[in-house]
Amino acid sequence: MLSRRTLLAAALLLGASPALAQSPAPTAKLPVVASFSILGDFVKNVGGDRISLATIVGPNSDTHVYQPTPNDAKKLAAAKVIFVNGLGFEGWMDRLVKASGTKATVVVATKGITPRERSKDEPQEDEAPKGKKDAHAGHDHGPIDPHAWQSVANAKIYVANIRDGLIAADPAGKDVYTANAAAYTAKLDQLETEVKAAIAAIPEQNRRIITSHDAFGYFGDAYGLKLLAPEGVSTESEASAKDVGKIIRQIKTQKIPAVFLENVTNPRLVDRIAKESGAIVGGTLYSDALSDDKGPATSYIDMERYNIRQLAGALTK
Ligand code: ZN
Repeated sequence: MLSRRTLLAAALLLGASPALAQSPAPTAKLPVVASFSILGDFVKNVGGDRISLATIVGPNSDTHVYQPTPNDAKKLAAAKVIFVNGLGFEGWMDRLVKASGTKATVVVATKGITPRERSKDEPQEDEAPKGKKDAHAGHDHGPIDPHAWQSVANAKIYVANIRDGLIAADPAGKDVYTANAAAYTAKLDQLETEVKAAIAAIPEQNRRIITSHDAFGYFGDAYGLKLLAPEGVSTESEASAKDVGKIIRQIKTQKIPAVFLENVTNPRLVDRIAKESGAIVGGTLYSDALSDDKGPATSYIDMERYNIRQLAGALTK
């Protein structure tokens, strides 16, 4: 049985609790960092109101060759969880994590994805590009393609990894993260159906395109589009004259109908290839980054929809 004194003490504690509740801890958002804009969109969809998100590489920017700033180190230092793509996409990240002194958990969002290797058709990096020796020193670029998000099936794996990473850092949010991930995954299912239908509607002999760097390999493998790129899977290595000449010959002999610009790469190379090969420029595809607020691809779902419209527009005749 409770004594009067115990009850009194409890009442005092309850009375005191409004003052204690002014501590921001119960409502503070989980500080989270995503390495680039597309991944940031996934994290935002799963984290919702419970997180405060900082993204390192912003819209229309190239993650392959990004140069971190002191402000980025501050973002990492303040974070509890850091989401990265992995597969060699953010070559600068390990050093930045170390330099920042962050205690955050680093979650690789592509964990469990089957990595795609570059096909034999693509130019190989057998000749080291001039002036790039330092960038290449100490790590192996290898043949692994990091652009796994371009397959919507893979995007669902990103979402599951993000959900699990957020729950590990903030167990109290488990129900919210689980529900958000499920709702967003349902949208991705719908998107995947749209993408498959859009590519299936393009005449088979037209399902071949050129982009400046090899960012759509997972997309092509998943939906049946053949892609060639003079630059390989990273924008770090420039296309050699030999690679460009080979692509131009392939466009002519294989009658590849269209070449596409990308929002993160310089249009000059693709423009030149179009001029010399007679292929049309089919438009701009969003490869490694979302658009800014004024653009047509402010979210992953809008990006994929925009890309399939561009493809269908140029390849359906
Ligand atoms: Zn890329």
